[in-house]
Amino acid sequence: MLKLILCLPLLALACSKQQPPHSNFDEAPLIVIGVDGMTLPVLEPLIRAGKVPHLASLIEKGVGGKLFTDVPTYSPRLWTSIATGVLAEEHGVPNFSEEDEQGNMLRDGLPFTSNCRKVPAVWNIAADNRRDVDSVAWWVSWPAEEIDNGRIVASYAAQVQAAILWKPLLWDEGIPLLTYPNSLQNDINALLDEGKPKGPLVREYNKRFGAISPEWKVPFQRDILFRGTFHADRTHQKIFNNLQNTGRSADLRMLYLGLPDVAGHFFWRYREPEAFQYPVPTEMSDKIGGHIDKAYMQVDEWIGEVIANAPENARFLIISDHGMGPANVTKPSHPQSGAHEEGPPGIFILAGPGVKQQGLLGAGKRKVGYIYDIAPFMLDLLSLAPGSYMEGKTLRYLMTDEWIANHPPLAGVDYREGFREATAPLVPGEGLDEVFIDNLNQLGYVDDE
Ligand SMILES: [Zn+2]
Repeated sequence: MLKLILCLPLLALACSKQQPPHSNFDEAPLIVIGVDGMTLPVLEPLIRAGKVPHLASLIEKGVGGKLFTDVPTYSPRLWTSIATGVLAEEHGVPNFSEEDEQGNMLRDGLPFTSNCRKVPAVWNIAADNRRDVDSVAWWVSWPAEEIDNGRIVASYAAQVQAAILWKPLLWDEGIPLLTYPNSLQNDINALLDEGKPKGPLVREYNKRFGAISPEWKVPFQRDILFRGTFHADRTHQKIFNNLQNTGRSADLRMLYLGLPDVAGHFFWRYREPEAFQYPVPTEMSDKIGGHIDKAYMQVDEWIGEVIANAPENARFLIISDHGMGPANVTKPSHPQSGAHEEGPPGIFILAGPGVKQQGLLGAGKRKVGYIYDIAPFMLDLLSLAPGSYMEGKTLRYLMTDEWIANHPPLAGVDYREGFREATAPLVPGEGLDEVFIDNLNQLGYVDDE
């Protein structure tokens, strides 16, 4: 009832747009935080050492385990599968950008954008079924899709968008269609400005990670790109918290963070030099060997702030798209010394009302499910039917007997019916597709061979 009263002014403003009635979902809001590349072999020792207290507490109150993935492990591909519940062949986002028949990215191919997706994502489904949605920086969410009663801050290309995200500051008109509704752009402009590369976040970064001398050419170059990810993540996390604080109670809230993946790609040789068949200078491993752990601790702190800003009855689902480990151990010149080509499992953490308390699952019993299970499970937690066409199944076995008894399983629905047609990739602004490909190159995603 309270919710309805609070919404009256909003409804009055929106009445010309003929929005459907506000959400009538009155159960625990679901907060989903996607953390790229977070891996249990790094996380578990940090939990034991008390260095990631917020993640540890979520696991202790609920459950922690491994989420199995699929190959190839391209982020746009996996995160779109997570958001849709279907294989890449069916969702239409197989790679970072358009590819040839062998699955190699085309040199003049365009990055995939949200309009290329052939099936609805959970934010479309939830919004179409009277659930309020906030989504920030999910992969391939640009252009921000129009959804009923929803708010989207889109991501053109997650990790590599740092260079793009702050380009708008140079333009009068900004990056188009970054937010839905359009007016949301006004609310985030100040945070985007704060997040810009030479802005106040530099101090925040240096405080945690320190600065690297330009004389250390390779790590210095990596540090520039890593900083970009830090600025993007922190900015998105602040935007997400601002959305949480606006008094509107969204039923589904999604946030994507990329820092652990980028840390893993760039700094594994310094963290674990003994895994590499070439010498890693000791002064470098002394100085930056802790970057991966620090990235996890940073994400833990950000998640702590999200928890502090969340309603008390919120349910939390923290997932990664894959794990990772040392890579290219014979190639000192390769930009990436950590990777995930073989698809090691990611992490899965669930906590909140109705979640069976199991803690961190015992070794050998840690497989919770697959990335394809996440979309049907998210829908289940929002009391919505799974997609009849979805690859995975809901993970309701992780809920208490009482919750299961009160939530009889719903028959699958074909949400694809009536969904818009997929269209060719869009370019947000002149030259931005080149910035994107160029950044992918520097990040070591595009193999030059
Ligand atoms: Zn990666």
